[in-house]
Amino acid sequence: MASLNLKNVYKIFDEKVTAVNDFNLEIKDKEFIVLVGPSGCGKSTTLRMIAGLEEISQGEVYIGDEQVNETAPKDRDIAMVFQNYALYPHMTVFQNMAFGLKLKKMPKNEIDKRVQEAAKILEIEELLDRKPKALSGGQRQRVALGRAIVRDPKVFLMDEPLSNLDAKLRVVMRTEIAKLHQKLQTTFIYVTHDQTEAMTMGDRIVVMKDGVINQVDTPLNLYNNPINLFVAGFIGSPQMNFLQGKIEVKNNSTFFVFGENYIQLPEDKSSIVNEKGYLSGSEMIMGIRPEDIFNDSATIEKFIKSSIEGKVEVTEIMGADASLFVDIDGQNLVARVESSSQLKPNTMTKLALNPAKIHLFDKQTEE
Ligand code: ADP
Repeated sequence: MASLNLKNVYKIFDEKVTAVNDFNLEIKDKEFIVLVGPSGCGKSTTLRMIAGLEEISQGEVYIGDEQVNETAPKDRDIAMVFQNYALYPHMTVFQNMAFGLKLKKMPKNEIDKRVQEAAKILEIEELLDRKPKALSGGQRQRVALGRAIVRDPKVFLMDEPLSNLDAKLRVVMRTEIAKLHQKLQTTFIYVTHDQTEAMTMGDRIVVMKDGVINQVDTPLNLYNNPINLFVAGFIGSPQMNFLQGKIEVKNNSTFFVFGENYIQLPEDKSSIVNEKGYLSGSEMIMGIRPEDIFNDSATIEKFIKSSIEGKVEVTEIMGADASLFVDIDGQNLVARVESSSQLKPNTMTKLALNPAKIHLFDKQTEE
């Protein structure tokens, strides 16, 4: 068990590629932290610096109270699980799990006890005599986790551990890892490019882009209050809709206008717009999630001041819900509506936006 602290951490490769740019984060003891962002944004490099597999170009990393910049990986008391499992093919599951403990010269009965306990937690007791080639992908991943668990580390680091599994198994293992975290009560730092994985697993999520932390928050806060256009577009599935338009202030009310559509901004949004000094004509981007758009008459009535009209292009039924792809004055919008209310292509429809769920971003700064 340990807290971690990363202070002004940089990684610069070959004196020119800034892979990690002024990374600052305090991780609490027992926290489940997820680093998420598109490929190449510096997630793995950050994790590898914590593990000691990559030198830190600048800044400091603390595990507990100890500064570990110069500490060898084996002396950091952390365990890392990789996406390719890195199991020894000629060893049985038991031997694979016991290997690190043997190297540490742990007594045999203690090794046996730890392997059995970990196997029980992961429900792989009956596989201990098998070699990796006789295991499924999911079972191999459990063994890789088992090898980390037996070491009883202060911190677990996981680098895309589920990316080699098929979609169904990934969902199962996602839950298993979350349960494991509950059971072990240890600090977990987990890297993924998959926002769904991040949203379902993390206590807090660190959203990265181009080596820079964009936002650190709980899943719900990220979803409800994305700090900029990148986070807004990256978090949430299906993706948030973005519409380009302008601000118009008229008769003491503030509107977001695009084409023929006037959306009256609620009090809190218009006061922010006014405080930031946006005048009539300022170009902005409005964000609205598909689930915050409605096409039933009662909601349209309720949100009449933020209702718009467009042409249905396609409907996709996904069971109880349907996605409505709508063209609004040349801009595309997806609405998540009830399947029973789906509409035929090429029909005009009114849609209401929940005014409380409207996000506004500056077109230039994207914030
Ligand atoms: P992620 O894990 O988010 O996909 P990485 O941390 O692997 O991203 O990489 C971040 C950036 O650093 C990328 O631009 C990558 O090309 C670069 N990079 C990673 N490792 C090296 C290396 N050993 N030498 C040079 N550049 C590297």
